[in-house]
Amino acid sequence: MKKMLEYQELDIELNKLKKSSLDSSDRESLAKLKAYIVESHNKGFQLETDAEELLNDYNKLKKQYDSNCEKVQELTSTDLNTITLDKVDSFLSQINSLSSELFLLERNINIIITKIKNSLKDFDTTKKNIIKAKEKYNACKDKCEKAVEAVAPKIKAIEEKMKAMEKDVPQDLLAKYNTLKGDKIFPVFVTFDNGHCSRCRVEIPTAKVNKLKADGSIVCEQCHRIIYIK
Ligand SMILES: [Zn+2]
Repeated sequence: MKKMLEYQELDIELNKLKKSSLDSSDRESLAKLKAYIVESHNKGFQLETDAEELLNDYNKLKKQYDSNCEKVQELTSTDLNTITLDKVDSFLSQINSLSSELFLLERNINIIITKIKNSLKDFDTTKKNIIKAKEKYNACKDKCEKAVEAVAPKIKAIEEKMKAMEKDVPQDLLAKYNTLKGDKIFPVFVTFDNGHCSRCRVEIPTAKVNKLKADGSIVCEQCHRIIYIK
């Protein structure tokens, strides 16, 4: 059991090292930056699609506007003497309605131009933000990689030590250990603490305590760890 516990101590240390290099705040910012970059890319695509639609709308309105202008020009260049008196009213009302249509079209075109300008500005800001976020992301990634590199030799040393210990540890205990660890029950071996499981604090019934004293270990019914007497 002593060897097994030494083995577990190393494993705990190994876990801490792996966690320290993977759970840092840098890693958290890395994930956040990545999400931000993906989000901004999507926003950029959306802005591009929107801009295309706006441009289509603009072209449609411009075509209509140009054609109306032509019509107005045609009408205004008509020699008034050729128009009979009874047609004058309809002639003038045609010019009037075309003019008000032109006025509306012009207004709508200006609205679209403003929208396109805003969209381009937005696109530009998004692009700049992506570049900045990418720079930050790379710096953060470097830092994280360095953190992993820094602990890598320590991790390797512990892993080698554990590997070497494996043949000295009772094989049945090691098999149990690996099964429980595989079920995410870790640490596997915990101490008996004044009538309780030291891990989950459940109280151990007297019969079980006697069994523990006789066999050296029992399985905790609540947290499924192996309880041993120190
Ligand atoms: Zn327990």
